Amino acid sequence: MPPKITVNQKGAKRVKGGHPWVFRSDILGTVGDAQPGDVASVHAQNGQFLGQAFFSPRSQITLRMLTSGREPVDRAFWKKRIEKAIQRRESYHKGCETRSACRLVYGESDFIPSVIFDQYGKVLVFQTLSAGADRFREDFISLFEEILSPEAIFERNDPSIRELEGLVRQKGVARGGAPVPFFIRQGNNEFAVDPLEGQKTGLFLDQAENYEAAARYAHGKLLDLFCYQGGFTIPVAAAAGEVTAVDSSAPALAFLNENCIRNGITNIRAIEANGFDYLRECQDWKETFDTIILDPPPFARDRKNRAGAVRGYKEINLRAMKILSREGILITCSCSQNFGPGPFVEMLQEAARDAHRDIQVLERRGAAPDHPVLLTFPESSYLQCWILRVI
Ligand code: SAH
Repeated sequence: MPPKITVNQKGAKRVKGGHPWVFRSDILGTVGDAQPGDVASVHAQNGQFLGQAFFSPRSQITLRMLTSGREPVDRAFWKKRIEKAIQRRESYHKGCETRSACRLVYGESDFIPSVIFDQYGKVLVFQTLSAGADRFREDFISLFEEILSPEAIFERNDPSIRELEGLVRQKGVARGGAPVPFFIRQGNNEFAVDPLEGQKTGLFLDQAENYEAAARYAHGKLLDLFCYQGGFTIPVAAAAGEVTAVDSSAPALAFLNENCIRNGITNIRAIEANGFDYLRECQDWKETFDTIILDPPPFARDRKNRAGAVRGYKEINLRAMKILSREGILITCSCSQNFGPGPFVEMLQEAARDAHRDIQVLERRGAAPDHPVLLTFPESSYLQCWILRVI
């Protein structure tokens, strides 16, 4: 018998509304010997069966819903969900045959909670970020071997969030092998990928389509702040005159330089600096740009530091608006889950007012469709990429 967990009215309402998480504060009690990572049966206070979920007693996110029925959650169950996730991307992939990297499983949005599988050509990289998902680690690996026959499967289970689940942080080769870093093709360019040391699983796949969009507007003297290995920098370089790419990470810039050589790009100058300081100095030197890209790390990691985060976003956006030439293009992003479109617009309005500039919104973009947003799970919508004309 699976352990039985009873949730309060608020929790039951959330589950019925399609939200895949129940927080610890909404758990009323547990019957049976429930261990971290168990698949538990979930019930409302009146005994009504609500479904089955991964049980994570150590985490604030105590339940991650898996089913609304009583079907067994086993290898065959995951096989169907994984095949479906891959199949859904096939229709999407047709439109972008030039991309060899893609997210194949995006956790809750693909009904495989807290599991990530990314494909980089013949290499897969995965994360199992909850106790329940980690229990099925071997099943996930062997299913992907069976379905896609990859050359290698890398594990990137080093995010700190694993500690909240009582799981060890680890990374390495889980199956096969591939020399790292390796290059993959995205659009017109090739990018170095290091699945063991790069951010996330190597690249920012969620931004892939925004890179192409940015290239359509990029022109003149361009500044790419928080450039990492050049996700934006490389694709926009052909459209721009001269490009300045700034990041505080020397290893990221070393990869950017390799990417420039690999793609025969010679108009990018990589600068190791703090983004905030760099903008301030540009203002002091009266240096202006025709296009600026801002893709900072998430300033608002949780609700607590929201005020500080808003100040951070406002500062970089305001300074960027001040050093943009008339009719310049600002491509401004946020990947903070706790900073939605409403507050983002407010921040932009304030920055524009203080910079005495008018703003036209040209495009409001999110993550690429291999990171689908589940309508009942707002947490899956975290990435914003706005393309603005600053008049
Ligand atoms: N635009 C990139 C991703 C940027 S991720 C792409 O799409 O590929 C955020 C980057 O900001 C990281 O590379 C990190 O090293 C850098 N970073 C973090 N804090 C910084 C700071 N204060 N100044 C400059 N760069 C910073």
